[in-house]
Amino acid sequence: MVPCLVDAHCHVSTMVDAVGCDKIRSNLDLALAGTASDVQRCVMSTNVYDWELLEPLLLMKQLDDEGPGINVSLGVHPWYCHLYQLDRSLSKVGHYRNCLKCKDEVQLMELVEQLPDPVDLSSYLSDERVSRVGCIGEIGLDKVFRLPQNGFLVSNNGTSLERSSLSNVRVEFAHQIQVFETLLKVAKGRGLPVSIHSVKCQGTTFDICKRILLDSEVNICLHSFTGTLDTVRLWLANFPHERLFFSVSCWINLKDWDSGAELLKSLPLQCILTETDCSVDSVSSQEQRQMLDSVLDAISRAHGISRTKAMDTVLQNFNRFLRK
Ligand SMILES: [Zn+2]
Repeated sequence: MVPCLVDAHCHVSTMVDAVGCDKIRSNLDLALAGTASDVQRCVMSTNVYDWELLEPLLLMKQLDDEGPGINVSLGVHPWYCHLYQLDRSLSKVGHYRNCLKCKDEVQLMELVEQLPDPVDLSSYLSDERVSRVGCIGEIGLDKVFRLPQNGFLVSNNGTSLERSSLSNVRVEFAHQIQVFETLLKVAKGRGLPVSIHSVKCQGTTFDICKRILLDSEVNICLHSFTGTLDTVRLWLANFPHERLFFSVSCWINLKDWDSGAELLKSLPLQCILTETDCSVDSVSSQEQRQMLDSVLDAISRAHGISRTKAMDTVLQNFNRFLRK
């Protein structure tokens, strides 16, 4: 195996306007061309818009067997799950009324007006589409998420997500759970690995995964894990370590170096992956490498191994995660 960096969980920007999308496409080409040989990535999709930007990469991979170091993942992020409909008999308004909640009826209806027609989830997860991806993600649960004023998060000028103006509208947790469970079952049916987001609901995430995935072949990656060390131990005690991965990011897990080191020490080496969680089209390749390097550095210090050994191990783990 040629040594290379691993980004087990990254993104492309979410853009809805055509000009923005063109810009992302060219940035994406540049970013991938610049790092194709030395970074292996698993790029998440989170909604229909970023999926449209990612889909052409699947074709590239088909044409070039080596691929540009890209593995494309299909998912519905909890921040976008309201855009997906489980009951296709409902009207647009009926759907959004069901899955959104807000004390202020006027604010709720103003927001619903701006939202697109919901996408039917089971059609979105067609066999044809699922059979082409190597991973299901990003999926998961988020207890603190509120919708932005415009209805869903979009990237700001191709850079960061616009988070400034949040509304008081939330997604019903039951709807998040239904979407999450649907995607876990798709992964189980296909034996595909999953990349999971969980914020402020570690217990529920664990319980659902245990119920649906324990007796499966599915490899599980908990990305930028923010639960307690007790929760880490709970996962490790229940799931086979060969199937369980924690992908560690610089900007969330190593923001506080000491707690990042604690997390890394609590993880068996075979369960560790590295990630940026950034949009690869909006952050420079050099910066992406630096982020992955810092995590490798933290791994080698926490486990008392060389950087080369850390890099080797993460790459092996990544290949095991994706069953390559
Ligand atoms: Zn992510």
